[in-house]
Order: sequence, then structure tokens, then C-alpha cells
Amino acid sequence: MDKQKKIDLLKKDRQYVWHPFTQMKDYEERDHLLIEKAEGVFLFDADGNKYYDSVSSWWTNIHGHNHPRIQKAIEQQIQKMDHVMFSGMTHEPGIELAEKLVEITPDSLTRVFYSDNGSTAVEVGLKMSFQYWQHRGRKNKHHFIYLNNSYHGDTLGAVSIGGVELFHSVFKPLLFPSFLAKSPADVGIQQSIEDVTAILEEHEDSIAGIVIEPLIQAAGGMHIYDPQYLKEIREVCDRYNVHLIVDEVATGFGRTGKMFACEHAGISPDIMCLSKGLTAGIMPLSTTLCKEEIYQAFYDDYDTFKTFFHGHSFTGNPLACAVAVESLRIFEEDQVMAHVETSAAYLQNIKEELISVPHVTNIRGIGMIAAWDLVQDVENGTPFDPEQRIGYHVYLESLKHGLVLRPLGDTLYLWLPLCTTTEQIADIMERTKAVIEKVTKSFMK
Ligand SMILES: *Cc1c(COP(=O)(O)O)cnc(C)c1O
Repeated sequence: MDKQKKIDLLKKDRQYVWHPFTQMKDYEERDHLLIEKAEGVFLFDADGNKYYDSVSSWWTNIHGHNHPRIQKAIEQQIQKMDHVMFSGMTHEPGIELAEKLVEITPDSLTRVFYSDNGSTAVEVGLKMSFQYWQHRGRKNKHHFIYLNNSYHGDTLGAVSIGGVELFHSVFKPLLFPSFLAKSPADVGIQQSIEDVTAILEEHEDSIAGIVIEPLIQAAGGMHIYDPQYLKEIREVCDRYNVHLIVDEVATGFGRTGKMFACEHAGISPDIMCLSKGLTAGIMPLSTTLCKEEIYQAFYDDYDTFKTFFHGHSFTGNPLACAVAVESLRIFEEDQVMAHVETSAAYLQNIKEELISVPHVTNIRGIGMIAAWDLVQDVENGTPFDPEQRIGYHVYLESLKHGLVLRPLGDTLYLWLPLCTTTEQIADIMERTKAVIEKVTKSFMK
């Protein structure tokens, strides 16, 4: 891109655009990274610099950018039909995708409800669960249990079951009351289960469901917990007759080394939310799947008013559905999960090299995800002064090293596209180590 065009665009960006999760004042003195092109696991900026998309464009990208088969799927679909409403009408991509999703998700899930982002997929799950109990005559069951550190999206329903103080506390006056339980990532499986059970013992009649992120509480700080927890929470939900709502928005589609995180424990949720990787990270689309019994509770003559009165203008967008169908074909035909097995094993092995890097602690990971914390003193765990914003400085430095290390506070992570090769992972790890060494050295002077 020519220099003047770049300058003009960035000027207009400052003038007109409000970016998500961004303190815009940070960009008074520096420019947003202006991306012009993406290909495979790489992003290219307006000056032609190349970056590894080492966070999969906010945890969405699966097969790499500009995949020729995905491009072709969009082309073919756009020639037939762009968008139509999904109420009173249906279409092939929407039908085909629903069939495939029912096939590949855990057995109990039989029905597919579309929306267009992860937060709405969760909202739909909450409303489905609530209304199910209304239809069953359990009018008091309208509360949800959620875990500390949990993140389920930014709409108000999702924030009402969010456990990240930094993002959520300011909105408290707007939220509906929910029950906060201890997280297995903080207190271990047993204590968390005991806490959930205690809440259920006391409030069983008023609880509709429990919402969890399976295996990894991602936005809350990349906290990973044992799959055994999923088995136990499943059992608790059965015992107390409440729904298990599993938010696989981040974990779905191979990121944890299995197609869905639930598979690590062999459990079936009552409701499952999917988005991010659903369209291989290319189009906005999400789904909320539920078990047959929930669907049947809404299925009746119109004048019983059991309709699920929920929907979005872009529900089941045909382009997005066509892309998702093509992505699932790529999974099958290119044996993506076999490739992931190799790459994930490699990443989980090589991430341990970070132990030799000063200030790195708590190295953890699963599948194509690796995370670690930066602290001032590893031995006694003294954190860096938050005002130093070391994570932010790592991000700035990472761009100079050709990758994107987007931190959550002082927690850093790699969240790699499934197509990343072992050679690329090795290269990413070398660059990562160099970035951390450079930044921490400058901070300790
Ligand atoms: C990202 C995320 C969401 C929200 O998805 P959006 O598409 O950003 O609304 C919900 N749940 C989890 C676990 C997520 O990681």
C-alpha cells in the first residue's frame, strides 16, 4: 500500500472507529496495525511486514487464512443466494450444516438453533433452558450457576454469568442475579464440586442450569482444569435436575486436540454453544445445540404459546453456513485432527522450553493452546507492578518479531491455527522467547 494511503486510512481510523476491548487513548501516539492481506497462518501489514497469526485472530481461525476451498465455497454460494430470513424459509447450507453438527457433536444433542456470535449462542442457551422449565411448570427455576474466571461473552445475559471482575464488575447494576461458584482452576475439582453442590442443595428449586467453559477458562486467564471435572459436574447436574450448558465457543473445532472439549471426558451436555471456529474463523455464525427433550418441551400447538420467541436478522446466514459446511468437509478430507495430534504434541512439548526464560512461570497448555505467566520473581511468585503493563509491552515487541502475542494482563499465550506446522511452531517459539527476554530485561534495569 502506498505511504499516503496508509497515513490517510490511519487518520480516518482515529477519527471514526471505536475498536473493541481497546483503550483508544493508547493509540493517540501509535498506530493500529493496519492489516492488508492474510494468507495461511500469516498476516501482512500495509508495509508488507509479515506476522504469524499466533492467536488465530481472536481464537477463530482454523485452517489458515484465504483457504482456497473456503474462498470457493463463498463464491459458489454468493452466485446462488446471499441472504434470506430463516423464519418461514429454509435453505440447503443451513440444513446441511445442522445435519453435520448433530452428527459430530455429543450424542444427546439433536437440534440446532442458529445465531451469529458466541455471546448470542450463550444467550440462546440461557433462554432455552429458562423457558424449558417454564413449560415444564417449574416456574421458579430461573437462576444460573457460573464459575469464577468464566467468560461467556459481552451481551448482558452473558455478562450476568461472567466471572472476570475487570470486564464485568462495572455492569453489575444491569445484570440479573446468578450464583457464583468456585472454579476448579482455582480450588481444584473436589472443592469446586462441593461449592456447586452446596448452592444446589440450598437453591435447587430455583436453578435452571450451570454454564461452564469446558477444560479451559480462556478469557479469564487461560486457566486449564482436569477433564474429570466435566464428568463430575455432569453427574451433579443429573442428580439435581438442572441443565449442563457447555460453552464450547472457544474450545470447539479441534482447538483442544479433540473436535470438542467435552470429548476429553466423554460427556454429553444438555445444551452446547458453538461459534468462533464453526466457520473456520471466516464468517460470523454460531449455534446453540440442545437435547431432544428440551426441543420437545417447546413443540406444541401454536395457541399454547410455547414458541421460542428468539431470532436474529442474520440467523442462519447462507454464506456463513456454506463456509461452515466446507470447513467440516476439510476436517474430514484433509484429516485435520490427525495433523493436530502431531502439531499439538509438538507444541505441548516445546512450550516447556519457556522454563529457561527468565520471569516465565505457570507454563500450561492443551491441544493447540499454550499459556504462561510473566512475574517479577519466579521463586516467590511476585507479580510485576500492573502499572508497568508488561503484557502490553510484550505485545508491542512481538510485532517487531513477526508475531502477535496478545496478552490477558500478564498472561501470555499462543492459540494456534490448527494448520500450523511443527516447523512453524518451532519458529514461533524461538521468536516468543526472544520477545520475552528482550522485554523483561528492559524492565529489570
Ligand atoms: C469468545 C467467547 C464468547 C463470545 O463470543 P463472541 O463471538 O465474541 O460474542 C463466549 N464464550 C467463550 C468461551 C468465548 O471464548
